[in-house]
Amino acid sequence: MLGLMMDKPLLISSLLDYAARYHGGTEIVSRTVEGPIHRYTYSDAELRAKKLAKALQALGVGEGDRVATLAWNGFRHYELYYGVSGMGAVCHMINPRLFARQISYIMNHAEDMLVFVDLTFVSMLEDVAPEAGSVKGFVIMTDEANMPEISLPNVYCYETLLDVQDGDYEWPQFDEMTASSMCYSSGTTGNPKGVLYSHRSTVLHAWASTTPDMLGLAARDAVMPVVPMFHVNAWGLPYASTMVGAKLVMPGAAMDGESVYQLIDQEGVTFSAGVPTVWLGLLDYLERSGKRLNSFERCVIGGSATPRAMIVKLQEEYGVNVLHAWGMTEMSPLGTVNWPKHGMEDETDAERLDREVKQGRPCYGVNLKIVNDANESLPEDGEAFGELKARGFWVCSAYYRAEGEGHDADGWFSTGDVSTIDADGYMHMTDRSKDVIKSGGEWISSIELENVAVGHPDVFEAAVVGVAHPKWDERPLLVVVRNEGSNVTREDLLAYYEGKVAKWWIPDDVTFVDELPHTATGKLLKMDLRDSFQDYKLPTA
Ligand code: ADP
Repeated sequence: MLGLMMDKPLLISSLLDYAARYHGGTEIVSRTVEGPIHRYTYSDAELRAKKLAKALQALGVGEGDRVATLAWNGFRHYELYYGVSGMGAVCHMINPRLFARQISYIMNHAEDMLVFVDLTFVSMLEDVAPEAGSVKGFVIMTDEANMPEISLPNVYCYETLLDVQDGDYEWPQFDEMTASSMCYSSGTTGNPKGVLYSHRSTVLHAWASTTPDMLGLAARDAVMPVVPMFHVNAWGLPYASTMVGAKLVMPGAAMDGESVYQLIDQEGVTFSAGVPTVWLGLLDYLERSGKRLNSFERCVIGGSATPRAMIVKLQEEYGVNVLHAWGMTEMSPLGTVNWPKHGMEDETDAERLDREVKQGRPCYGVNLKIVNDANESLPEDGEAFGELKARGFWVCSAYYRAEGEGHDADGWFSTGDVSTIDADGYMHMTDRSKDVIKSGGEWISSIELENVAVGHPDVFEAAVVGVAHPKWDERPLLVVVRNEGSNVTREDLLAYYEGKVAKWWIPDDVTFVDELPHTATGKLLKMDLRDSFQDYKLPTA
């Protein structure tokens, strides 16, 4: 017997429909690429997203067609999230920081029909476009006054396309399993792989992420996604914030400490999210300027491990509650967030920090397990570590046009991360499987060694890579960017590890560099580092 409740598909358009109706006056504030701060409301956004849907129809875009974006976090990109998916097409967010060759590969693989591009990326697009055969037109995300000289065929101006449309449009209703959007993983190994989200997975992910043990979002929040909208949907924040009707603050291209601070301060931001590098920049600015954070309550840090020192500084010196989170493009992205459980009220400060450096617990909707090389489940005792596997409502079931890769026969997704899970369900990532250092048949966590190093007051950034060793196979090498003006030595840093990690984990050597290579999403580019130090002679070798 079936229940007698309404069968309403979970569609992305329903989020904006709700926000426009019940939070119509709440603001979306964007720092634009053109310069000024732009402000409007959820009702303005819905009207313009509808005009956009009609403009897309006029350009021949139909259900299932892929429409690409190369854009920063801003109101026009937000309209694309809703206008494209809302009309039944697929919004494909491309990471503009990838190499031109990877971008044209992605456009061809996805068979993008139109590309919407911010002014910043127009010249890059001119290089890429000749290789992107499926693309029929390019829309520059600006107004007539700011239209650049451009050598591409079939170029349109975003504002002009919208100007000729009225907003008289009803969002179509269709199957909630319909594809809504796509992102490619950054492809640090091999070609990027496409993850194709559905309306259902996106709405469920947004719903879950608003709950108290995930991001805990509410209508009274001012949410600033610093994580880019081209990087796993800005961790779903443009959907989740709309679902609750929170004020949205979009930082555009300016993600340096001072610019991030200005928006937090001027717009009363209560909640933000980004990779550790962003918060490193903000902390650096706060220290230099002596400024304080007033409204800022919660900060989600993920994408790379959050160092203990960063948690301590943000919490204890600036009163910001740090929420360490783990996720992946393939997971929409939220997998775990770190909040305490009932019964943890009496944690000492040290116990609390020991917990907070872990990546956290899954919420309802995500299932995790760790397995050994034979794919057998390992005990969840906080000690045993193995490859992390995931299953859930918003976990990808196959890559786009590369089915079979990355999944077990029984449907679990292999994350490529190595972790422990403790008896309370807290997951602690030890490494990415390709970064773990294999020393004498045992594993050393490069992340843990990096976290210790960045706790040293003279260290700006640190990376640890495995370097070939005749006896141990691999041994850790610490690569450090010193703080400005610091003369900290190899010996100081090695001594700093004593008592903090097992003796045999202490790196064999330290080398100083001016900067470290990062991936398109701001993570340490370990592959490049490993290449650079491939022939490094350790003093112990
Ligand atoms: P890619 O960088 O491969 O495009 P994502 O941006 O989807 O992929 O990043 C996913 C990966 O980032 C995870 O598999 C994990 O290795 C790493 N990651 C994410 N969050 C954390 C975290 N809190 N701590 C450590 N690593 C993390």
